[in-house]
Amino acid sequence: MRILVINCGSSSVKYRVFEHDKSLCDGKIERIGEDFEGRILTHAKALQQVLEAVNSYKPDTVAFRVVHGGEKFTSATFIDAEVIAAVKARIPDAPMHNPYALAAIKSCREAMPDLPQVAVFDTAFHVRMPRRAVTYAIDQDIAARYGIRRFGFHGISHSYVAARAARHLQAPLSDLRLVTLHLGNGSSACAVEYGRSAETSMGNTPLEGLVMGSRSGDVDAGVLLSLLRSGDFTVDQLDDLLNNHSGLAGLSGISNDLREIENHAEQGHDRARLSINVFAHRARKYIGAYAASMGGLDAIVFTGGIGENSTSMRRRILQRLEFLGLHIDLDRNADVRLDEDNDCAEISTGHSRVRALVVKTNEELMIANEAAQLVAATNEASRPARAIPIAVSARHCHLTAETFEKLFGPGATPTVDREISQPGQYACKERVNLIGPRNRIDRVRVLGPLRSVDQVEISRTDEFKLGVDAPIRDSGQIQGSAPITLEGPHGTVNLQEGLICARRHIHMHPDDAEQFQVEDRQEIAVAVRGGPRDLIFGDVLVRVKDSYKLEMHIDTDEGNAAELSSGELGDLAYEDIDNVSAEIQ
Ligand code: ADP
Repeated sequence: MRILVINCGSSSVKYRVFEHDKSLCDGKIERIGEDFEGRILTHAKALQQVLEAVNSYKPDTVAFRVVHGGEKFTSATFIDAEVIAAVKARIPDAPMHNPYALAAIKSCREAMPDLPQVAVFDTAFHVRMPRRAVTYAIDQDIAARYGIRRFGFHGISHSYVAARAARHLQAPLSDLRLVTLHLGNGSSACAVEYGRSAETSMGNTPLEGLVMGSRSGDVDAGVLLSLLRSGDFTVDQLDDLLNNHSGLAGLSGISNDLREIENHAEQGHDRARLSINVFAHRARKYIGAYAASMGGLDAIVFTGGIGENSTSMRRRILQRLEFLGLHIDLDRNADVRLDEDNDCAEISTGHSRVRALVVKTNEELMIANEAAQLVAATNEASRPARAIPIAVSARHCHLTAETFEKLFGPGATPTVDREISQPGQYACKERVNLIGPRNRIDRVRVLGPLRSVDQVEISRTDEFKLGVDAPIRDSGQIQGSAPITLEGPHGTVNLQEGLICARRHIHMHPDDAEQFQVEDRQEIAVAVRGGPRDLIFGDVLVRVKDSYKLEMHIDTDEGNAAELSSGELGDLAYEDIDNVSAEIQ
């Protein structure tokens, strides 16, 4: 498969042809819109040059970076009239990007009408951020009417560098809490919590968040109201001020280019120094905020022109983060030189608990890979359906021996009430009461056998009843989860953490995994069909072990949504996630 990737900005077009992960050719046409002795280089002309340059490589698919896809697109998508309409509808929110992507799509369609076209969205990685992270605290009727929510951008880069960092750290991405910092002309931070974007600094538009080349990032909305009220600014002038004359350019009064600002700062230029300080301070502030919102941090990942190249900016951002367990190695930081073959460097010390990495971003490769996956999934003959039993798990607790004794008395051990489906596991006769800040839930089942950590699994509805904020987690991932008080007949135990909403998952024996052609920790989608209500569950985590028996576990809220009752076996059809997401759309 040969994929032509086109990344079209307001003044440049980058392109690259890939065969699998190998780049066959690449190039960048710059200064679009500029006047060259009376001749203006237009996007159409630039694209013509691109098509001439790649013609001999005979691509069979074209993939485009699309900055704003709104909330609709969660993954790469074949471009049809509906996609084009959706991208067009977002032009007012991404005026510097979406029109140019559309122009590129049109030019390529005219030149290569038979090639499939794929859109890969910068917003897609963030679409499923939790509601608390996407919602602005304004009147929700107005927010809904005007589509005011946070979208986030740079998603292709954040997801690429997060995955690359996980490979370097030799840990599954789904076990890591990362803060990725894409620092370039446009800059944003992302909290990548166990593989998902949990929060990002750009919001409804790419203007919010970090200090950028010429964009302000966070500004008190009241300031804009004052400037408007002064009568000295029109809306367009404010737009120009915030997008083109702010950030490093506005702070320094010199340039939007950090290299120039660093040179002036060395010579004592006060505003150059201030720009650098404000930039670093804002980035550090976001690291702290995201570590807090994820309840912990494993690594910080730098990327983008500044993140990859500015030794001194990385050092400034990371200073005074020792309290988080992060120790920068100044020599390693100074020695970073990234290129295609050497695309990841570690800059924390050997004993630093939180690691710091620099990763060369490769948005084009990510776009090519996503497009290739989409094409491959579509070409594959659909897999045979096979029923997967479904179990609705009511709220329950897994307890340690120590907690069990505190609740049920010294020497107490669990009493088996009945075997449950997974081999070796059982429901106990013992029950505990959960006490939250708002309410209590009594007689919650203890499941055996005893474990090495306490874990209490509840549904979203239970969360609201108890008045707690429990994160969605895989079993065993309890670091930074919610606290809860357990009450038994003998005593009470305050757990500092351990309360979670369990993530939907399927237990499988390795033979089942082979049959379904899935791997441990892969995310798939499962369609529940033939019941009172058809429903497709996405984000179902596959867990493979010799001791597991095939069964999907969902909680009571999820069971209710599909009108399945607890303990029933559902009639499930397994489908590949890409086919399913296509179906949802
Ligand atoms: P874009 O967001 O347009 O893709 P880049 O990621 O290329 O931007 O980042 C551009 C920024 O990177 C500029 O501010 C530039 O000054 C900065 N930069 C590039 N190389 C260096 C360097 N060696 N030292 C400091 N800053 C650098």
